[in-house]
Amino acid sequence: MSDKQDAAEGGRMEERLYQNRYQVDEGRPHVKIHPQAEDSPELQALMAICPAGCYRPTENGRVEVVADGCMECGSCRIVCQETGEIEWAYPRGGYGILFKFG
Ligand code: SF4
Repeated sequence: MSDKQDAAEGGRMEERLYQNRYQVDEGRPHVKIHPQAEDSPELQALMAICPAGCYRPTENGRVEVVADGCMECGSCRIVCQETGEIEWAYPRGGYGILFKFG
């Protein structure tokens, strides 16, 4: 896709996502991992699936989540529904993602 096409459609996805704002609820993450003996393939897949890039590998090869920037899409909750590794709730009122449209 050309830059002109990007601009005509409101910019590249990364640029459009950057317009959103996020209010961090310090010390009260709304997404948590319940670690198991090994990270399931489903949990590992979240490093590629999460549109906000909240999942990443640690130095020891495990998966961690930093929910700052979470878009509340619920994908991680659904993908790990069977494994029980994800605890998920909407952020408290006044916190979380603030979408900017247009
Ligand atoms: S709800 Fe969506 S954006 Fe938020 S951590 Fe899960 S997959 Fe990522």
